[in-house]
Amino acid sequence: MREFEYLEPTSVQEACKMLVDHQDDCRMIAGGTALMLAMRQRMLSPAYLIALGKIRKLRGVSYDEKFGLHIGPLTLHAEVARSKLIGDKFPMLAEMAAHVANPQVRNQGTIGGNLCYADPATDPPSCLMALDARVVLEGVGRQRELSIEEFLVDYYTTALEPDEIVTEIRVPPASFTSGRHVRFLRTAAEHRPLVNVAITVTQAGGVCQGARVVVGASTPVPTRGRRCETFLAGKRVTADVAAEAAHILASDIEPISDMRGAGDYRRKMIEVVSRRSLQDLFDVQNAAEDVTL
Ligand SMILES: Cc1cc2nc3c(=O)[nH]c(=O)nc-3n(C[C@H](O)[C@H](O)[C@H](O)COP(=O)(O)OP(=O)(O)OC[C@H]3O[C@@H](n4cnc5c(N)ncnc54)[C@H](O)[C@@H]3O)c2cc1C
Repeated sequence: MREFEYLEPTSVQEACKMLVDHQDDCRMIAGGTALMLAMRQRMLSPAYLIALGKIRKLRGVSYDEKFGLHIGPLTLHAEVARSKLIGDKFPMLAEMAAHVANPQVRNQGTIGGNLCYADPATDPPSCLMALDARVVLEGVGRQRELSIEEFLVDYYTTALEPDEIVTEIRVPPASFTSGRHVRFLRTAAEHRPLVNVAITVTQAGGVCQGARVVVGASTPVPTRGRRCETFLAGKRVTADVAAEAAHILASDIEPISDMRGAGDYRRKMIEVVSRRSLQDLFDVQNAAEDVTL
């Protein structure tokens, strides 16, 4: 690994100025679980590492009735998983974080690093998209806010400008009644998801009044199932409706094929996982099981 200088800014603006000063020759580091692997494999060889760890503003979790949940990007997956605040307000987010990777990665990797690396085989992006979360970015002397859809651009590509840092993840107060994030791994020995599906629904008496359905780990960036959402709106969700909604969702996704699995296999699993999630969310009993895992 190339030798590098380790810089430790104590404010966001100081870090942004370092990004401007060192440009392509530097990288920010949070937990380092993704970056150090890339450096060891010589995919990246920065001369300067800008460590974000001493910027206090990037830590912490809080909730405001008007604006919702604030998550500092340096929050570890394990902290998201065990936060009582997150567990109370957004149980699907805490549950998702509890299943990311393995204990070592959960105790070192941050939610901000996860989003900024933009690896498709990850869990928080789809979950945060279903929760309608937004990302706050700060550059030299300016700040802007983007939806997760706007932030995640392509494989390993975000909307971050060269001088920008993610300083906050915001989740608006829940306007839905329940939600689930479910991931499917090809084998129990794997850490990363083959597919995941995140769904939030507003329901009354078994009728779906609205839904946000997002498929992750299957396309370069998570994909909203808008036709599935429209299909569900206003319907009493039975086993047949859940199955049809899942079929629509799986048909509309163009899944990637990679070393984790073929596109067709992913499509089948998207259908299975989303059907079961909908059955679960609407407490649908005795549903037909037409695909064996
Ligand atoms: C063995 C293994 C298994 C894994 N399994 C899963 C899994 O099942 N599900 C899953 O979701 N993920 C999984 N991951 C990915 C893991 O979640 C990420 O590696 C981790 O969250 C990255 O966070 P970090 O703090 O370590 O980021 P770092 O490695 O420090 O940084 C990653 C990138 O983000 C940039 N960055 C970091 N913070 C900021 C910021 N605030 N603003 C701007 N840029 C920033 C860095 O410059 C760098 O380019 C796995 C990783 C490993 C190694």
